[in-house]
Amino acid sequence: MKFVGAHVSASGGVDNAPLNAMKIGAKAFALFTKNQRQWVAKPLEEKMIASFKSNLEKSGILAKHVLPHDSYLINLGHPEVEKLEKSREAFVDELKRCEQLGLELLNFHPGSHLVKVGKKDPNYADKIMEAELNCLDVIAESLNMAIEATKGSNVKLVIENTAGQGTNLGYKFEHLAHIINNVEDKSRIGVCLDTCHTFTGGYDLRTREAYDETMDTFARIVGFKYLFGMHLNDSKPVLGSRVDRHHSLGEGEIGWDAFRFIMNDPRMDDIPLILETIDENIWDKEIEALYDLVEV
Ligand SMILES: [Zn+2]
Ligand SMILES: [Zn+2]
Repeated sequence: MKFVGAHVSASGGVDNAPLNAMKIGAKAFALFTKNQRQWVAKPLEEKMIASFKSNLEKSGILAKHVLPHDSYLINLGHPEVEKLEKSREAFVDELKRCEQLGLELLNFHPGSHLVKVGKKDPNYADKIMEAELNCLDVIAESLNMAIEATKGSNVKLVIENTAGQGTNLGYKFEHLAHIINNVEDKSRIGVCLDTCHTFTGGYDLRTREAYDETMDTFARIVGFKYLFGMHLNDSKPVLGSRVDRHHSLGEGEIGWDAFRFIMNDPRMDDIPLILETIDENIWDKEIEALYDLVEV
């Protein structure tokens, strides 16, 4: 069975998110547990936590189908010590907020190495490769520290694959595998595949053959036992463009077939499938359209 929803607004309080999910007929949802553009947020109050839990129950959505997303400011691979420490602290705070809300997942982008190498540099490829590998190790270290700081917690750290825009890491399945390999407690780690990022990262999804090849590659390099969620987005940019611009389903370069393959792929059963498409006014219709793709 599939659990489809969207990244809904939590403005006015996190307890509004389950209600917003209900309104669009969602069976899953994503949210920010704090303002995603600010470093510090006031702690969640007991009343808010209780209200969130009671609204979640009202919505009929299970905690395992809620996929909170961390702040965009956090870079767990930051090359500067001070900013890395700030990111690590903020990330632990995000994990604790999820735990307080009774949630089980926290979705985040791996990080960016921020190293500038001139395109004309004769050693360009080598230098980028070195910066990427170093950064992946820093990210894994950040995750080990976060897991240690939240020992006993059930919240899983869910790494999202990225489009690879700028110096963002996570656009190759090998990046995700490298991080996982270096995380000590593998019971706390998982991944989220974003269809737009997968596609603009260079993995095609548009035909049966392409979809199967991409998913086989993912199975071989990362493994479906680590897949804890997906973001369902069409893409404005073309295959392999390494640009992160989402589009409404069927409106972009990916097209409906990929979403039909996903909705009929048992490997995507029982995990949150989250829309981050650009027109929130049609999320209810997109959710319905996705369920209509299920072949019985
Ligand atoms: Zn995403
Ligand atoms: Zn994106």
